[in-house]
Amino acid sequence: MPKDKISLFTPLSDVKKIGTSKALALSRELGISTVEDLLLYAPSRYIDKSSMISIKEAKERFKEGEHAIVHTKVRLEGIAMIKTKNKGKIIVEAVAVDDEGEKIRLVWFNGATWLVKWLKSLGEAVLYGRIQQLSKNSIGIAHPELRKVKDGKVDNTIIPVYHIPSSLVRKKISESQIRNWIKYLIEEVGDVEEFIPDFLLKKYGFPSRSEAFRQMHFPEDISIATKSKERFKYEELFLLQTALLIAKKNRVTVEKGYRIEKSGILIHQFVNEKLPFELTDDQKRVVKEIYKDLRSGHPMKRLLQGDVGSGKTLVALLAILIMVGNGYQCALMAPTEVLANQHYKNFLKYVEGLKKEDGQPVRVQLLTGSVKGKKRKDLLTALREGYIDILIGTHALIEDPIQFKKLGLVVVDEQHRFGVAQRARLLAKSSDENIIPHLLVMSATPIPRTLALTVYGDLDVSIIKQLPPGRKPVITKHFYENQRVEAYKFVKYQVDQGRQAYIIFPLIEESENFDYANIQEGYERIKNFFGPSYSIAIMHGRMKPAEKQKAMEDFASGKAQILVATNVVEVGVDVPNATTIVIESAERFGLSQLHQLRGRVCRSSHQPYCILITGKLGPDSRKRIKAMLETSDGFKLAEKDLELRGPGDLLGVQQSGKDVMKIADLLTDRDTLLEARQDAAYIITKDPELKKLPELRERILKHMGEKLFWQRIA
Ligand code: ADP
Ligand code: MG
Repeated sequence: MPKDKISLFTPLSDVKKIGTSKALALSRELGISTVEDLLLYAPSRYIDKSSMISIKEAKERFKEGEHAIVHTKVRLEGIAMIKTKNKGKIIVEAVAVDDEGEKIRLVWFNGATWLVKWLKSLGEAVLYGRIQQLSKNSIGIAHPELRKVKDGKVDNTIIPVYHIPSSLVRKKISESQIRNWIKYLIEEVGDVEEFIPDFLLKKYGFPSRSEAFRQMHFPEDISIATKSKERFKYEELFLLQTALLIAKKNRVTVEKGYRIEKSGILIHQFVNEKLPFELTDDQKRVVKEIYKDLRSGHPMKRLLQGDVGSGKTLVALLAILIMVGNGYQCALMAPTEVLANQHYKNFLKYVEGLKKEDGQPVRVQLLTGSVKGKKRKDLLTALREGYIDILIGTHALIEDPIQFKKLGLVVVDEQHRFGVAQRARLLAKSSDENIIPHLLVMSATPIPRTLALTVYGDLDVSIIKQLPPGRKPVITKHFYENQRVEAYKFVKYQVDQGRQAYIIFPLIEESENFDYANIQEGYERIKNFFGPSYSIAIMHGRMKPAEKQKAMEDFASGKAQILVATNVVEVGVDVPNATTIVIESAERFGLSQLHQLRGRVCRSSHQPYCILITGKLGPDSRKRIKAMLETSDGFKLAEKDLELRGPGDLLGVQQSGKDVMKIADLLTDRDTLLEARQDAAYIITKDPELKKLPELRERILKHMGEKLFWQRIA
């Protein structure tokens, strides 16, 4: 039987040389599953002559506690084979001596007789390897690289070095193995197809794809290697941007959405009769952008970004009123029950007294996990028959077999808490399968531009930068645990002025029990400190929904002056009179979370305060606290968060922990991303269907499907 030809898309498990178990390990640990994935695994650095370092110099570096790699010409002495008692395992040892007469010990822990023979045959060799503490009294190099020197000349070949996580080392996958596989696969695969348009290759001076694979791994010189790696980074970003822009273009040309003819009477009634304040210019602009989308006849897919407290909910309400005024139903999905409740209460107030064209009031209903039995059944019937205009809820909105009569708009609040699949399911609630409901996604965690372009690249983005007038910038202070009393005294002072305060304790899933003990203890301590004349409520995830609801209501109505809570209040909770937030163990929170929490107290014209209480700070937590003290600009903090934690964490989406990009780095390749986006836009404008670029078209259709799937429904 003829051997199947290996192509870029061959799964590694089908490559005999690699084998299924190692292929599985690569896929689990590095997300590498095809030949192409492996060939795109770029070397972290290269060894070449410029990195030559003598044994003496490397030993000195090692003494200084530095990374010490020996790279020099040596000859070997004292080559010996030691049989161990452990299952006949063989250790091979040798001593390397360089031209200066300096010596270092070499060890191979999984030696073999052929190795001894080979070492004896070597004569002069170039040694490469990192100095380690081999045992208590001895340093040396374990498993060094040795290459024969011919005719006294040091080989000029540049060797790629790959980063191998220790989890792979445990699976017996070594660096040199990876290098050999890549070498083998590059030869097997041969020439590969180019899909980046020629004019772009010329513009950046990039090598062809085949050339770039060879040169990135086994370069003739370092500058070509660098250029090749750049090409693949660009390629990754360019493909994704092209795909996203095509998806976006399709949405506004091909896909059908409900077309709105007029803004309707509800929004006018609301703005003229009920709105207690003037909209900010940003709010007005965004409402116009949304209205334009709703009139287009194509489905809106808009991401509304704005800092906490910038008035996004109000914008969502206006969009909803437009749709309801045109006879459609709307759904508003919130990430927590507390938040859904709050939205529900606010919406009831907002729509009270409004009259639809038929003279009927606007009907708002709440659907959460706590709505059960007959009440739930009745609600679902009413919804199906069109007697509910606005349905507000949590995940329950999509997890149940609920059906709308005419769902026109879905608003998702604080999107990063929602999985992509969940949003998809909600869109599937459309009553007409040919028409996609409009979607408005609100995010209070500003997303750095690079990330937004990558993950939400096919969405339109509206940004609210302006805060409602009269807001004072928050004052943030940092106290250590032993200064806690000072913080509490400050809270007392604020409460005595008529304000309210949050005191927040961390809740991290892994240490849940410990955390609950912690908040209980904290609650007792706070009660002790404040005494019986102060009213203090507590709220955390282990309480029943009704209890949580009660605590939240007491706090919202002002009955409770202090709310002791876990991060449940993180998103969206709106109690304008609460102007101080104390965050206990603040070092355990991420930056976005801290920023969200701080946003809870910036909702009125009173001076807001945020106090971060921490224990001893490590290097990373110190950076986070410092960033919090330096700025309250959500976008700046988001950039910082991206820098400190990487994109996976920041998005909080289910991408199985793998970063968004394979080879490009959204932090350092920002400029490349913007260039790739521009190039993609240029191509799409000229040739929307990529008729003149069939290879690119093919590549995107064939291989971007999965990626696009989650982008499309994001
Ligand atoms: P976000 O959802 O963006 O965090 P909200 O929509 O909850 O913010 O608004 C925060 C607070 O600001 C609310 O109490 C809201 O009533 C108020 N608000 C919104 N827009 C304005 C405005 N234009 N002028 C004054 N207050 C506003
Ligand atoms: Mg909000």
